[in-house]
Amino acid sequence: MFDSSSPVPPAATQVAANAPSGPVTAAVDCCPEAAWFDVSRNGPASYFGFDNLSNKVAQPGQEYWNSGPQISLPSNKETRDGAVWVSVPVGEETELTINFKGAAACIGNCTYEIEPATVAEVVAPTPTASGLAIKIKGVQPGEASLKVMCNGKLRGYFHIWCQKMVFLDVSVGVIQVTSAKHTRHQIMQGRNEYLSTKLPPLLLPPLPPNPPFTVENLETALNNTFMQALISCSVTDVGIVDFDQLPEAQRNAARNFVFDGPEPVFMSSGSMDPRVGFDKAVTDAVYRSLNGVAGLANAHLPGKFHYRIWYLRQPDVHSLETIGAALETPSRDGFMFATGESYYSVLVHEFGHMLGLKHVNEPNKTNKDQLPDHLRLSDKNGAAWHPDDPTNAMGYNSPFNVDLLYSQWKAYERVKTHAGLSPDVGNS
Ligand SMILES: [Zn+2]
Repeated sequence: MFDSSSPVPPAATQVAANAPSGPVTAAVDCCPEAAWFDVSRNGPASYFGFDNLSNKVAQPGQEYWNSGPQISLPSNKETRDGAVWVSVPVGEETELTINFKGAAACIGNCTYEIEPATVAEVVAPTPTASGLAIKIKGVQPGEASLKVMCNGKLRGYFHIWCQKMVFLDVSVGVIQVTSAKHTRHQIMQGRNEYLSTKLPPLLLPPLPPNPPFTVENLETALNNTFMQALISCSVTDVGIVDFDQLPEAQRNAARNFVFDGPEPVFMSSGSMDPRVGFDKAVTDAVYRSLNGVAGLANAHLPGKFHYRIWYLRQPDVHSLETIGAALETPSRDGFMFATGESYYSVLVHEFGHMLGLKHVNEPNKTNKDQLPDHLRLSDKNGAAWHPDDPTNAMGYNSPFNVDLLYSQWKAYERVKTHAGLSPDVGNS
């Protein structure tokens, strides 16, 4: 998770190659002053969710590791004391790095315990060149804290959210329809021109080039984000539904959602009708029509899926200002109006809506249970992403919106899935 304004923590103590190890005696005479936690240095494959923003301190210096010799576990795990949250699936492991303050030779005197011990177990604290890598394994659903103890005193902690992994089958397909004015060739040309001339503004330092647009990479993009919430997506390419080959009524239903269609959603300027999302009658009509198109397309699916994403590419470059839409929040169907590697993060954002996640700037505060107060924008505004959380998947900072916070991990109604939310082809 990108963190633009962290207080600079004290330098991590180097652990010597001959750091003490072996049995720990009941009482030891030296201890590190404090311990705090960082993302695993072994890369994203070694962990699931890691949230160092939800409990970020309001003022630098208020971190628990700067609070003096008496460190205590807060009764409220959402206290803003600098503690991090990690997610871990039942039966799987996640890794963090521990940093220590002071007394390098005493690190070996530390022990690690999880409270309550029923939720997770410590797998392996292992010294590394720059700290201590620690792994925990999920045991059963619940919340807990890992405590670093030394000589009977708490030296540091992090919080754990453990759940069973949810497995979702997701279809990705293309609705092909020739509009009244544009040929298929022009539709593709418009898309290519858009990608080459009107990439989203870079609001953060540029990332490495994205991988090519493939279904496999779409699956990777979804899992990079939603595995943080212990949701695993299996994406199936269901190919093209060619509405040009379908009866006229169905073809026209799809044409309504091409820029120059007979009943365009899009204005002459090329932007989506600005009343969409604000004028209830207009919004309902648009979404009802899109829902109808999804229903027609779903009838051509080769199997059953929990969630369905349809690409309905637009011929006019400007119409791509609206790149994706989830039909409701939550919803079993979603649309993408542009293809391209730059839009993986848009797909991730729309899929977040499909799972029930709200914007970080939802105007009516329906997102209050999904975001901590200090990371929630209270109103619609031009920024549409929180400056202290610029990579949140539910902000508008594409292509950097890829991360989820602890409270967003919890927002998905996973119990419903475990209880038998079954793949289907209708809308429910
Ligand atoms: Zn959105």
